[in-house]
Amino acid sequence: MKTQHSKIALITGANRGIGHEVARQLCKRGFAVFIGSRDFSKGRSACEELCSEGYEAICLPIDVTDPVSIRQAVGTFSQKADHLDVLINNAGILEDHGENILCLNTEMLERTLKTNTIGPILVTQDFLPFLQKSPDGGRIINVSSGVASLENMETYAPAYSISKAALNAVTRQLASSLKEHNIAVNSVSPGWTRTDMGGASAPRPVEKGAEAIVWMATDAPLAETGGFWQDNKRMPW
Ligand code: NDP
Repeated sequence: MKTQHSKIALITGANRGIGHEVARQLCKRGFAVFIGSRDFSKGRSACEELCSEGYEAICLPIDVTDPVSIRQAVGTFSQKADHLDVLINNAGILEDHGENILCLNTEMLERTLKTNTIGPILVTQDFLPFLQKSPDGGRIINVSSGVASLENMETYAPAYSISKAALNAVTRQLASSLKEHNIAVNSVSPGWTRTDMGGASAPRPVEKGAEAIVWMATDAPLAETGGFWQDNKRMPW
């Protein structure tokens, strides 16, 4: 059966962390939310949690590094929805552990690029036909990071920083290509947030980390496209 909600969002990596909290906040704003998760049972638990709070959350198995998995997700999605208003490319990994570019493990760099940079391109390509059917104009949000900023980039986590800087370039390319289709594309940094990735000493609670992503998905003017944002303000590239 297809969802009766008029506003529909898909979030990759939404079974935990920032993605899960973004899902909750979008549900509160009246969206039906597809919970992208590479692990079906984790995705189902995350959905059950939101459904028990009275929201419409739908589990969508999707591994952003696997083109077959993405195509299967498109098939599952099409059985449940006719259009997509908001795509949030949130799934990400951080494997750097104190590496320096001078001794960077390039296999780790390849894995990081595959998830953080190439994954969002593949997911966007395959879900584009649904975004083009959004009645109010679609929105794509690529979840980036402060360490992607070339102005601030120093020695921290080179593979991760490079992958997110490249994701910002993906944002610019997509924004330019999709402007005529009335689809806004932006990068948003959640700030350093307390999740499995951010760690226990991160200053931001997950609710705060999700806020700017939700703002970009809902209240930001649709004319804002091709930007890099944190706390609803433009960041230096
Ligand atoms: P978490 O590590 O808590 O969650 C990451 C999520 O991504 C999990 O759901 C994980 O799934 C999923 N994921 C990883 N690889 C894949 C894949 N190949 N396919 C599908 N899903 C995948 O991270 P956060 O919630 O902290 O981070 C969310 C986003 O925010 C990331 O893009 C991150 O880079 C960014 N960010 C986070 C910051 C922070 O301080 N926390 C700061 C700046 C940016 P699984 O459970 O199966 O592993």
